[in-house]
Amino acid sequence: MKVAVFSTKPYDQKHLEAANQGQQELVFFDTHMSAQTAALAEGFDVVCCFVNDVLDDETITNLHHAGIKMIAMRCAGFNNIDLNKCRELGLPVARVPEYSPYAVAEHAVALIMDLNRNIHRAFNRVRENDYSLNGLLGFDMHGKTVGVIGTGKIGVAFAKIMHGFGCQIIASDPYQNPDMEALGTYVDRDELWQQADIISLHCPLMPATQHLINQNTIEKMKPGVMIINTSRGGLIDTKAVIDGLKSEKIGYLGLDVYEEEANLFFEDYSNDMLMDDIFARLLTFPNVVITGHQAFFTREALQAIARITIQNLSNFASGTMTEVRWIPETLAHQP
Ligand code: NAD
Repeated sequence: MKVAVFSTKPYDQKHLEAANQGQQELVFFDTHMSAQTAALAEGFDVVCCFVNDVLDDETITNLHHAGIKMIAMRCAGFNNIDLNKCRELGLPVARVPEYSPYAVAEHAVALIMDLNRNIHRAFNRVRENDYSLNGLLGFDMHGKTVGVIGTGKIGVAFAKIMHGFGCQIIASDPYQNPDMEALGTYVDRDELWQQADIISLHCPLMPATQHLINQNTIEKMKPGVMIINTSRGGLIDTKAVIDGLKSEKIGYLGLDVYEEEANLFFEDYSNDMLMDDIFARLLTFPNVVITGHQAFFTREALQAIARITIQNLSNFASGTMTEVRWIPETLAHQP
C-alpha cells in the first residue's frame, strides 16, 4: 500500500522505517494534515496522521475524494478526528490505543516533582552562581491526597507511582477499574475537587470533558492546589486557570498540553514573536511549568507506536479487519 505519512519528524521516520522493513510504501511529509493539504494524499491508499493534524469534516471529505481508503492515527487520542464523517463515508480509522502508559504517567510525575521542589528555578539560580533557597520551599509528597481524573491505562500507571510515594489516591471515572480500586478509592467529582492536594487529568477530551477545569470547579478546590494536565489541552479553560493562579487559589500548574497547542507545539519558533497572549501570560508565572506535548516521547513509546502503526496497516492490507485497532463505538460515543 502507498501510505502518506503526515506531520513527520525525523524521529517518526526513523522508527517507522525500522518497524516497516519495506512492507508498505511509506512517503513522508513534514506538512500537517488539513483540508488544504489533504490533496497531497492523491494517489495514496492510506494517510497516517498525528495528534495536531486537523481531520475535520472538510479534510475527511477531501481525503475521500482523493481516494484514501483508511486513516491510521499514530496516537491514542482521537479528539482531532470527525469519526461520524469517517463512518458516513465508510473510511476506517485505526489508532495506537496503548503504547506506553508509563511514558505519560512518568512525565506527569516529573512535572509534579519539578513544581514541588522548584527544580526549574533552582537550575537557573545555580547557573547564575546563586545558591540561596528563598522561594524554593517544597512539600513532602508522603501523605498528600492525589486526585486522578480518568483511571484507564495512564491514570492507573500514574496512581501506582503516587501510591509508591505514600500518597492517598482518590479517583473519578464513569467506569471503575479494579486495578485502581487496589490503590485508592473512587469518590464523586465534587469530593475530589475538595480533597485533592494534587489533581492529575488522564481522561480523553470529548464534549463531556471539555473545560472540565473551569472557574466553577476551581472554586471548589483546595487553596494552593496543584493541577497537572498531560492529557489534552481542551480539558482546561486556560483563562479560568490564569485567574486561579493570579488569586493564588491554584498553587502550581504543570502542563504538557494546551488548548491552542496546534499552532505552537512540535515546531521551533525561537526566532519568531509569540503571538498567543494567553500562552504568553501562562509563561510569566514562576509556579507554572509547561512542556510541549512530550509526555509520550520515550524511546520505548516511539518504538511501540511505530510497531503498532505498521501492524495496523498490514492488518488493513491483508483484510484482517478484526485486528485493526478500531476506535470502539462505545468510546467514540461516550457522554
Ligand atoms: P484510556 O482509554 O485507557 O483511559 C481513559 C479513561 O478516561 C477511561 O477509563 C475512561 O472511562 C475515562 N473517562 C472517560 N470519560 C471520563 C470522564 N468524563 N471523567 C473521568 N474519566 C473519564 O486512555 P489512556 O491511554 O489512559 O489515555 C488517557 C489520555 O491521555 C488520552 O485520551 C490522551 O488524550 C492522553 N495522552 C496524552 C499523551 C501525551 O503525550 N501528552 C500521550 C498519550 C495519551
